[in-house]
Amino acid sequence: MATFDMIVVGSGGGPDETNLSGYLLKPREAAWNDGIIALEAGSGLGALRHIMKRDPNIFGERPTDANPTSFTPLTVYSNVKCFLLTHAHLDHISSLVMAAGTLGGARKRIYGSTQTLRDLETVFSGRVWPKLATYDENNPLLQLVYHALHADGKYKVIFPNISVRFMTVNHGMSDSGQYDGACFFIRHDPTNHEFIFFGDVEPDSISAEPKNIAVWRAAAPKIPHDISTIFIECSYQTGRPEAELWGHLSPVHLVQELVTLATEAHKSRSGSRPRKKQRKNSTSPDALHGALQGVKVYIIHCKEQFSTERPINHVIGDQCRELLAPHQLGVELLTADQGMKIVI
Ligand SMILES: [Zn+2]
Ligand SMILES: [Zn+2]
Repeated sequence: MATFDMIVVGSGGGPDETNLSGYLLKPREAAWNDGIIALEAGSGLGALRHIMKRDPNIFGERPTDANPTSFTPLTVYSNVKCFLLTHAHLDHISSLVMAAGTLGGARKRIYGSTQTLRDLETVFSGRVWPKLATYDENNPLLQLVYHALHADGKYKVIFPNISVRFMTVNHGMSDSGQYDGACFFIRHDPTNHEFIFFGDVEPDSISAEPKNIAVWRAAAPKIPHDISTIFIECSYQTGRPEAELWGHLSPVHLVQELVTLATEAHKSRSGSRPRKKQRKNSTSPDALHGALQGVKVYIIHCKEQFSTERPINHVIGDQCRELLAPHQLGVELLTADQGMKIVI
Protein backbone atom coordinates (compact mmCIF):
# COMPACT_ATOMS: atom_id res chain seq x y z
CA MET A 1 0.00 0.00 0.00
CA ALA A 2 1.58 3.27 -1.11
CA THR A 3 0.78 6.21 1.14
CA PHE A 4 3.60 8.75 0.75
CA ASP A 5 5.45 10.47 -2.09
CA MET A 6 8.98 11.62 -1.43
CA ILE A 7 11.46 13.57 -3.52
CA VAL A 8 15.11 13.35 -2.57
CA VAL A 9 16.51 16.88 -2.80
CA GLY A 10 19.76 15.68 -1.29
CA SER A 11 20.86 12.50 0.46
CA GLY A 12 24.54 13.00 1.24
CA GLY A 13 26.15 13.75 4.59
CA GLY A 14 28.75 16.28 3.43
CA PRO A 15 31.23 17.64 2.65
CA ASP A 16 29.64 18.10 -0.81
CA GLU A 17 27.40 21.09 -0.09
CA THR A 18 25.33 20.44 -3.22
CA ASN A 19 23.99 17.12 -1.89
CA LEU A 20 23.00 17.32 1.77
CA SER A 21 20.09 15.69 3.65
CA GLY A 22 16.83 17.14 2.35
CA TYR A 23 13.59 15.32 1.48
CA LEU A 24 10.20 16.62 0.38
CA LEU A 25 7.21 14.61 1.50
CA LYS A 26 3.45 14.53 1.03
CA PRO A 27 0.63 12.06 1.54
CA ARG A 28 0.02 10.10 -1.68
CA GLU A 29 -3.61 11.20 -2.00
CA ALA A 30 -2.78 14.92 -1.86
CA ALA A 31 -1.23 17.16 -4.52
CA TRP A 32 2.20 18.75 -4.14
CA ASN A 33 0.60 22.19 -4.18
CA ASP A 34 -1.69 21.22 -1.29
CA GLY A 35 1.34 21.44 0.98
CA ILE A 36 4.66 19.76 1.60
CA ILE A 37 6.69 18.56 4.58
CA ALA A 38 10.40 19.33 4.31
CA LEU A 39 12.08 16.46 6.11
CA GLU A 40 15.55 17.84 6.92
CA ALA A 41 16.81 20.97 5.22
CA GLY A 42 20.43 20.46 4.25
CA SER A 43 20.04 20.90 0.49
CA GLY A 44 17.10 22.98 -0.70
CA LEU A 45 16.39 25.55 -3.39
CA GLY A 46 19.71 25.32 -5.24
CA ALA A 47 19.81 21.54 -5.39
CA LEU A 48 16.15 21.41 -6.40
CA ARG A 49 16.83 23.85 -9.23
CA HIS A 50 19.37 21.42 -10.70
CA ILE A 51 17.05 18.45 -10.19
CA MET A 52 14.18 20.24 -11.95
CA LYS A 53 16.41 21.21 -14.86
CA ARG A 54 17.13 17.54 -15.45
CA ASP A 55 13.61 16.38 -14.62
CA PRO A 56 11.12 19.23 -15.16
CA ASN A 57 8.12 16.97 -14.51
CA ILE A 58 9.24 15.57 -11.21
CA PHE A 59 6.26 17.16 -9.44
CA GLY A 60 3.77 15.91 -12.02
CA GLU A 61 2.70 16.58 -15.56
CA ARG A 62 3.51 19.72 -17.46
CA PRO A 63 1.15 22.61 -16.73
CA THR A 64 -1.87 22.76 -19.04
CA ASP A 65 -4.68 25.30 -19.53
CA ALA A 66 -6.83 23.27 -17.17
CA ASN A 67 -4.04 23.08 -14.62
CA PRO A 68 -1.88 26.13 -15.04
CA THR A 69 0.20 25.56 -11.92
CA SER A 70 3.79 25.29 -12.92
CA PHE A 71 6.31 24.38 -10.28
CA THR A 72 9.54 26.21 -9.73
CA PRO A 73 11.92 25.55 -6.86
CA LEU A 74 10.57 28.66 -5.17
CA THR A 75 6.89 27.70 -5.52
CA VAL A 76 7.75 24.24 -4.20
CA TYR A 77 9.40 25.65 -1.08
CA SER A 78 6.59 28.22 -0.72
CA ASN A 79 4.29 25.21 -0.45
CA VAL A 80 6.25 23.81 2.47
CA LYS A 81 4.04 23.90 5.55
CA CYS A 82 6.60 22.60 8.01
CA PHE A 83 10.21 21.58 8.42
CA LEU A 84 10.92 18.42 10.38
CA LEU A 85 14.50 18.36 11.67
CA THR A 86 16.41 15.52 13.33
CA HIS A 87 19.12 17.81 14.69
CA ALA A 88 20.74 21.15 13.96
CA HIS A 89 24.03 20.14 12.37
CA LEU A 90 24.66 22.30 9.31
CA ASP A 91 24.25 19.47 6.81
CA HIS A 92 20.62 19.17 8.02
CA ILE A 93 19.62 22.83 8.30
CA SER A 94 21.72 24.93 5.93
CA SER A 95 19.15 25.46 3.17
CA LEU A 96 16.51 26.46 5.71
CA VAL A 97 18.90 29.06 7.07
CA MET A 98 19.89 30.38 3.65
CA ALA A 99 16.28 30.65 2.44
CA ALA A 100 14.66 31.75 5.72
CA GLY A 101 14.30 35.36 4.62
CA THR A 102 12.96 34.60 1.15
CA LEU A 103 10.47 31.75 1.51
CA GLY A 104 7.00 32.64 0.25
CA GLY A 105 3.65 31.16 1.12
CA ALA A 106 2.03 30.57 4.49
CA ARG A 107 3.75 30.46 7.87
CA LYS A 108 5.93 27.45 8.37
CA ARG A 109 6.55 25.53 11.56
CA ILE A 110 9.96 24.16 12.38
CA TYR A 111 9.57 20.88 14.28
CA GLY A 112 12.47 19.47 16.25
CA SER A 113 13.52 18.58 19.78
CA THR A 114 13.77 21.37 22.32
CA GLN A 115 17.55 21.16 22.02
CA THR A 116 17.47 21.26 18.20
CA LEU A 117 15.35 24.42 18.32
CA ARG A 118 17.68 25.98 20.90
CA ASP A 119 20.63 25.20 18.64
CA LEU A 120 18.83 26.77 15.70
CA GLU A 121 18.20 29.87 17.79
CA THR A 122 21.96 30.32 18.07
CA VAL A 123 22.05 30.58 14.26
CA PHE A 124 18.98 32.82 13.98
CA SER A 125 20.47 35.03 16.67
CA GLY A 126 21.00 38.27 14.83
CA ARG A 127 24.73 37.50 14.58
CA VAL A 128 25.33 34.39 12.48
CA TRP A 129 22.08 35.15 10.64
CA PRO A 130 19.19 37.53 11.28
CA LYS A 131 16.49 36.53 13.75
CA LEU A 132 14.03 35.00 11.30
CA ALA A 133 12.18 32.54 13.54
CA THR A 134 10.08 32.84 16.67
CA TYR A 135 8.24 30.75 19.27
CA ASP A 136 5.30 33.16 19.05
CA GLU A 137 2.64 31.68 16.77
CA ASN A 138 1.04 35.11 16.50
CA ASN A 139 4.07 37.17 15.59
CA PRO A 140 3.00 38.73 12.28
CA LEU A 141 6.55 39.68 11.28
CA LEU A 142 8.19 36.27 11.27
CA GLN A 143 7.21 33.43 8.98
CA LEU A 144 9.07 30.62 10.73
CA VAL A 145 7.70 29.32 14.02
CA TYR A 146 9.61 26.96 16.32
CA HIS A 147 7.53 24.07 17.60
CA ALA A 148 9.09 21.50 19.93
CA LEU A 149 8.59 17.76 19.61
CA HIS A 150 8.88 15.57 22.69
CA ALA A 151 10.02 11.98 22.98
CA ASP A 152 6.86 11.02 24.88
CA GLY A 153 5.87 7.96 22.87
CA LYS A 154 2.92 9.79 21.33
CA TYR A 155 2.18 10.63 17.73
CA LYS A 156 1.74 14.32 17.04
CA VAL A 157 -0.17 15.61 14.03
CA ILE A 158 2.18 17.86 12.04
CA PHE A 159 0.34 17.96 8.72
CA PRO A 160 -3.11 16.93 7.45
CA ASN A 161 -3.23 13.10 7.71
CA ILE A 162 0.37 12.84 8.95
CA SER A 163 1.59 12.33 12.51
CA VAL A 164 5.07 11.88 13.87
CA ARG A 165 6.47 10.00 16.82
CA PHE A 166 9.86 11.27 17.85
CA MET A 167 12.50 9.12 19.55
CA THR A 168 15.92 10.22 20.74
CA VAL A 169 18.99 8.37 19.48
CA ASN A 170 22.71 8.87 20.08
CA HIS A 171 24.78 10.88 17.65
CA GLY A 172 28.22 10.74 19.28
CA MET A 173 29.77 13.03 21.84
CA SER A 174 30.32 16.76 22.02
CA ASP A 175 32.25 18.83 24.57
CA SER A 176 29.13 19.04 26.68
CA GLY A 177 28.52 15.26 26.64
CA GLN A 178 26.25 13.00 24.63
CA TYR A 179 24.93 14.66 21.45
CA ASP A 180 21.33 13.63 20.74
CA GLY A 181 20.04 12.74 17.31
CA ALA A 182 16.49 11.81 16.41
CA CYS A 183 14.48 9.10 14.76
CA PHE A 184 10.99 9.76 13.40
CA PHE A 185 8.11 7.35 12.94
CA ILE A 186 6.12 9.13 10.24
CA ARG A 187 2.54 7.86 10.06
CA HIS A 188 -0.13 8.23 7.41
CA ASP A 189 -3.08 8.45 9.79
CA PRO A 190 -5.90 7.22 7.50
CA THR A 191 -4.10 3.89 6.90
CA ASN A 192 -1.73 3.61 9.91
CA HIS A 193 1.07 3.01 7.43
CA GLU A 194 4.37 4.39 8.72
CA PHE A 195 7.98 4.70 7.79
CA ILE A 196 11.04 5.25 9.95
CA PHE A 197 13.51 8.02 9.28
CA PHE A 198 16.79 8.19 11.18
CA GLY A 199 18.87 11.29 11.43
CA ASP A 200 22.54 10.74 12.13
CA VAL A 201 23.03 7.88 14.54
CA GLU A 202 25.81 5.94 16.20
CA PRO A 203 25.78 2.15 16.57
CA ASP A 204 24.34 0.72 19.76
CA SER A 205 27.38 -1.59 19.91
CA ILE A 206 29.63 1.33 20.85
CA SER A 207 27.13 3.48 22.80
CA ALA A 208 27.53 3.98 26.51
CA GLU A 209 23.74 4.04 26.67
CA PRO A 210 22.25 2.21 23.65
CA LYS A 211 19.05 3.77 22.33
CA ASN A 212 18.51 2.21 18.90
CA ILE A 213 17.20 -0.95 20.55
CA ALA A 214 14.14 0.99 21.74
CA VAL A 215 13.46 2.09 18.15
CA TRP A 216 13.71 -1.50 16.90
CA ARG A 217 11.43 -2.76 19.67
CA ALA A 218 8.86 -0.11 18.83
CA ALA A 219 9.07 -1.00 15.15
CA ALA A 220 9.17 -4.82 15.39
CA PRO A 221 5.46 -5.58 15.95
CA LYS A 222 4.55 -3.39 12.98
CA ILE A 223 6.89 -5.05 10.50
CA PRO A 224 6.19 -5.47 7.64
CA HIS A 225 2.47 -4.69 7.54
CA ASP A 226 2.44 -1.18 8.97
CA ILE A 227 6.15 -0.37 8.63
CA SER A 228 7.85 -1.52 5.46
CA THR A 229 10.31 1.32 4.78
CA ILE A 230 13.25 2.58 6.81
CA PHE A 231 15.70 5.36 6.01
CA ILE A 232 18.96 5.03 7.90
CA GLU A 233 22.37 6.52 7.54
CA CYS A 234 25.59 4.77 6.65
CA SER A 235 28.07 7.61 6.59
CA TYR A 236 31.32 5.72 6.12
CA GLN A 237 32.78 2.91 4.07
CA THR A 238 33.91 -0.44 5.39
CA GLY A 239 37.16 -0.29 7.34
CA ARG A 240 36.53 2.99 9.16
CA PRO A 241 38.00 2.64 12.68
CA GLU A 242 35.37 2.76 15.44
CA ALA A 243 37.24 5.58 17.15
CA GLU A 244 36.62 7.70 14.05
CA LEU A 245 32.91 7.15 13.55
CA TRP A 246 31.96 10.47 15.18
CA GLY A 247 28.45 9.31 15.92
CA HIS A 248 27.79 7.57 12.60
CA LEU A 249 27.39 4.07 11.14
CA SER A 250 29.62 2.13 8.78
CA PRO A 251 28.40 -1.00 6.90
CA VAL A 252 29.27 -3.50 9.63
CA HIS A 253 27.23 -1.47 12.14
CA LEU A 254 24.31 -0.98 9.79
CA VAL A 255 24.14 -4.75 9.37
CA GLN A 256 24.32 -5.27 13.16
CA GLU A 257 21.42 -2.86 13.62
CA LEU A 258 19.32 -4.66 10.99
CA VAL A 259 20.07 -8.04 12.57
CA THR A 260 18.84 -6.58 15.86
CA LEU A 261 15.64 -5.40 14.18
CA ALA A 262 15.20 -8.86 12.60
CA THR A 263 15.69 -10.46 16.02
CA GLU A 264 13.04 -8.20 17.56
CA ALA A 265 10.65 -8.80 14.65
CA HIS A 266 11.13 -12.55 15.02
CA LYS A 267 10.55 -12.38 18.80
CA SER A 268 7.46 -10.32 18.37
CA ARG A 269 6.00 -12.83 15.88
CA SER A 270 6.90 -15.93 17.86
CA GLY A 271 5.52 -14.33 21.00
CA SER A 272 2.12 -14.08 19.40
CA ARG A 273 2.06 -17.69 18.15
CA PRO A 274 0.50 -20.44 20.24
CA ARG A 275 3.22 -21.84 22.45
CA LYS A 276 5.08 -24.74 20.98
CA LYS A 277 8.18 -26.26 22.41
CA GLN A 278 10.45 -23.31 23.08
CA ARG A 279 13.69 -23.70 21.21
CA LYS A 280 16.78 -23.10 23.23
CA ASN A 281 18.02 -20.36 21.02
CA SER A 282 15.00 -18.90 19.33
CA THR A 283 17.06 -16.25 17.57
CA SER A 284 19.64 -18.49 15.96
CA PRO A 285 20.72 -17.16 12.56
CA ASP A 286 18.41 -19.64 10.80
CA ALA A 287 15.44 -18.33 12.72
CA LEU A 288 16.02 -14.88 11.29
CA HIS A 289 15.85 -15.98 7.67
CA GLY A 290 13.15 -13.90 6.06
CA ALA A 291 12.44 -11.99 9.29
CA LEU A 292 12.50 -8.70 7.38
CA GLN A 293 10.77 -9.95 4.25
CA GLY A 294 8.84 -7.10 2.67
CA VAL A 295 10.99 -4.37 4.23
CA LYS A 296 12.94 -1.82 2.20
CA VAL A 297 15.86 -0.01 3.78
CA TYR A 298 17.20 3.11 2.10
CA ILE A 299 20.77 4.04 2.93
CA ILE A 300 21.28 7.78 3.32
CA HIS A 301 23.86 10.31 4.51
CA CYS A 302 26.95 8.75 2.93
CA LYS A 303 29.92 11.08 3.25
CA GLU A 304 31.43 12.00 -0.10
CA GLN A 305 35.11 11.06 -0.42
CA PHE A 306 35.71 12.65 -3.83
CA SER A 307 37.86 9.61 -4.54
CA THR A 308 35.50 6.96 -5.92
CA GLU A 309 34.44 6.86 -9.54
CA ARG A 310 30.96 5.66 -8.63
CA PRO A 311 28.69 7.64 -6.33
CA ILE A 312 29.79 7.01 -2.76
CA ASN A 313 26.33 5.83 -1.69
CA HIS A 314 26.45 3.09 -4.35
CA VAL A 315 29.88 1.99 -3.12
CA ILE A 316 28.65 1.88 0.48
CA GLY A 317 25.37 0.26 -0.62
CA ASP A 318 27.28 -2.61 -2.23
CA GLN A 319 29.41 -3.04 0.88
CA CYS A 320 26.28 -3.23 3.04
CA ARG A 321 24.54 -5.70 0.71
CA GLU A 322 27.58 -7.97 0.67
CA LEU A 323 27.77 -8.05 4.46
CA LEU A 324 24.03 -8.48 4.82
CA ALA A 325 23.55 -11.28 2.25
CA PRO A 326 24.66 -14.23 4.46
CA HIS A 327 22.04 -13.28 7.07
CA GLN A 328 19.20 -13.84 4.57
CA LEU A 329 16.90 -11.47 6.43
CA GLY A 330 14.81 -10.87 3.32
CA VAL A 331 15.28 -7.11 3.54
CA GLU A 332 15.79 -5.11 0.36
CA LEU A 333 18.68 -2.67 0.70
CA LEU A 334 18.53 0.40 -1.53
CA THR A 335 20.21 3.77 -1.79
CA ALA A 336 18.35 7.09 -1.83
CA ASP A 337 19.86 9.07 -4.70
CA GLN A 338 19.58 12.81 -5.19
CA GLY A 339 16.68 13.57 -7.56
CA MET A 340 14.93 10.27 -6.90
CA LYS A 341 11.17 10.04 -6.46
CA ILE A 342 10.34 7.43 -3.85
CA VAL A 343 6.89 6.00 -3.29
CA ILE A 344 6.47 4.72 0.25
ZN1 LIG B 1 24.62 14.84 9.16
ZN1 LIG C 1 24.91 15.25 12.45
